Amino acid sequence: MPLDTHQVEDDPEMTEPLTAPLGAAAPPVEVGSAEPTLPRPAQPRVITVSNQKGGVGKTTTAVNIAAALAQHGLQVLLIDTDPQGNASTALNIDHRAEVPSIYDVLVDGTPISEVMQPCPDVDNLWCVPATIDLAGAEIELVSLVARESRMKKALDVWMREREAAGEPRIDYVIIDCPPSLGLLTVNAFVAAREVLIPIQCEYYALEGLSQLLNNIQLIQTHLNQDLHVSTILLTMYDARTRLSAQVAEEVREHFSQQVLAATVPRSVRVSEAPSHGQTVITYDPHSTGAQRYQDAAVEIAHRGAEMKDEA
Ligand code: ADP
Ligand code: MG
Repeated sequence: MPLDTHQVEDDPEMTEPLTAPLGAAAPPVEVGSAEPTLPRPAQPRVITVSNQKGGVGKTTTAVNIAAALAQHGLQVLLIDTDPQGNASTALNIDHRAEVPSIYDVLVDGTPISEVMQPCPDVDNLWCVPATIDLAGAEIELVSLVARESRMKKALDVWMREREAAGEPRIDYVIIDCPPSLGLLTVNAFVAAREVLIPIQCEYYALEGLSQLLNNIQLIQTHLNQDLHVSTILLTMYDARTRLSAQVAEEVREHFSQQVLAATVPRSVRVSEAPSHGQTVITYDPHSTGAQRYQDAAVEIAHRGAEMKDEA
């Protein structure tokens, strides 16, 4: 079987017309409506989107799931912990070097409330941006007290502050990780309870997965016993290749409980949305990519509602 069976020209998604004017999302919930259209989790769910491989769809997954949940009326905070700041870009959040960011939270102990910004295009969605400063944080964190748990502490304080101020309780905190297993990712693993792993349906997709799982196990043993892989999302699925189907089958065999039924296809709309400072959910809500991310978000929310306490 040839491994490279890509036929980009034939993909219906590639020539799919824009089915809605740019930016004209049809939110599933009315603006200002108090009742979310998806179940609210019993406790805030902190989910870190992680995979030490780059380019597998971490950022795309983090911003689109966050936007989809927020459009359903849930209160969502996205924390960008990648110095590249791609998640901040996709949410149209100012992240020039001088803007207060997750760097200030981790290194200087600045409260989250002082650095978070509302997403201009999606109600109920907030973002803690990442700036280029964050590139130095891995090294600066090494000499700081409680270097692994600074994000967790900041989140706990922020949630208590909100409660004390009578502000709406946060439903989801989604953390977008850099493609490494350094202190930034460790901070995300300590702050979270759940890990969402996007897996690209391509050759070598599973390479390195056991290393990631080992690291999660280490964090569980030493730093955060509640951490577990709750969700796996198959991304960049190409229905015309046997390779995609094989990878999907293998992942479903190994992780039957965690893999979402929704798979995200390889789609031009998904890849061009960030260059417009948008998620695909707002850029072209009727595209297949947007709909699959919506489906994935709905599944995540319903699973969370059913979740007893399987940590
Ligand atoms: P990571 O955060 O893991 O490095 P990204 O989410 O930035 O990965 O995705 C890597 C690249 O692939 C980006 O250019 C992104 O726009 C593109 N991409 C992600 N998901 C899809 C998809 N479903 N279809 C097409 N391109 C995608
Ligand atoms: Mg990324």
